[in-house]
Amino acid sequence: MISTDLHTHTLHSHGSSSVFDMFMAGQAKGLKIHGFSEHSPRPLGYNFTNEYREHLTKSFPTYVKEVQEIAKTDACQVLLGMELDWIENEVPFMEKCAQSYPFDYLIAGIHFIDTWGFDDRQEDWDKLSEPEKFHFYTAYYKTMIHMAKSNLFNILAHPDLIKIFSVDSFHAWLPHNKPLVKEALMAVKEANMCMEVSSAGLRKPCAEIYPCRSIMEIAKEINIPISFASDGHCVNTIGFNFEALATYAKEYGYSESVYFVKKEMHHVSF
Ligand SMILES: [Zn+2]
Ligand SMILES: [Zn+2]
Repeated sequence: MISTDLHTHTLHSHGSSSVFDMFMAGQAKGLKIHGFSEHSPRPLGYNFTNEYREHLTKSFPTYVKEVQEIAKTDACQVLLGMELDWIENEVPFMEKCAQSYPFDYLIAGIHFIDTWGFDDRQEDWDKLSEPEKFHFYTAYYKTMIHMAKSNLFNILAHPDLIKIFSVDSFHAWLPHNKPLVKEALMAVKEANMCMEVSSAGLRKPCAEIYPCRSIMEIAKEINIPISFASDGHCVNTIGFNFEALATYAKEYGYSESVYFVKKEMHHVSF
């Protein structure tokens, strides 16, 4: 049974539940390690349709205080994390964010290619030709290599998020590009990071766990550590479908996942 969820959000970003309510929901799910990983403040010029930058920037210090307060509980281990947007041209901004609080771990969320938030709108993808989609899949994994080499992070989030709105095209591209994906995962492993296995994809148009089976095969081959994630943004999605994640990860020979305390990797079996 999986009892760690390292990727959760709250109403301090665009989630809909408070830190306390998320914690209680995690307890109801039997979590022994509950990682909060609110989105990082984001620089200007990188926008989503329903932009929440201003609210998040203002609210972030309160998020940190509330998590630190709840971490005093003996009920389970509560970790202070952050999902930091990897934005290729904003390294000083990211470094400043990373150092702003005593985080237990940082999750690398790749949601942007240049200034395009590619996981925002189906319609953006519907306008693209097949070669254009392929171009962005390649760009995504090249970006992942740069992210890993920054040595800023502990966890690679949703390792094939780029498939979110074009899953069939992604699966046409992937068989011919496994060396690139493997190179990216190797870079992640060499940075002493782990790869997240996330049930969030099951709730999205791609309707697949992040990452897909072919990428799990590569992960197993290079023996990269994994962590578990719901990417829950409300009390109903914390620990979402972890039964499916456990079965899935076991199929690839995994029997333990990892978590980070003060950036130190620890192992736990499931
Ligand atoms: Zn994310
Ligand atoms: Zn997230």
